[in-house]
Amino acid sequence: MGRRRRTKKVGSTRGFGARYGSTVRKQYVKVHSEMKKAHRCPKCGSESVRRQSVGLWNCRKCGSTFTGGAYTPVTKMGIVAKRAAKSTPTQQVSVKRKEKGDIVNDLSEANAENKNVLP
Ligand SMILES: [Zn+2]
Repeated sequence: MGRRRRTKKVGSTRGFGARYGSTVRKQYVKVHSEMKKAHRCPKCGSESVRRQSVGLWNCRKCGSTFTGGAYTPVTKMGIVAKRAAKSTPTQQVSVKRKEKGDIVNDLSEANAENKNVLP
């Protein structure tokens, strides 16, 4: 009998044994291996980014720490969220409108008190 590897095909799920089901273990290996490998740094461009904790990524080359996805530095949802955060016209417009409304209210109040301020 030849020498056999004590763990086979389980990847980073060693220690899980037969628990949690094969599908879940396969998914875990996929996500976990993606998480464990070095990622590209958005600042210096080198593949030295490691996961520090959930959603926290640190580049060992330039030392920058940034937030990202829980298991990968960049997620599709994150890109969408960033785009949405960059262009928040709805929020800004509504704030401006509110300020305008306040000014109008102030003026009308001033008018009520002193009717000859504005024509
Ligand atoms: Zn870097």
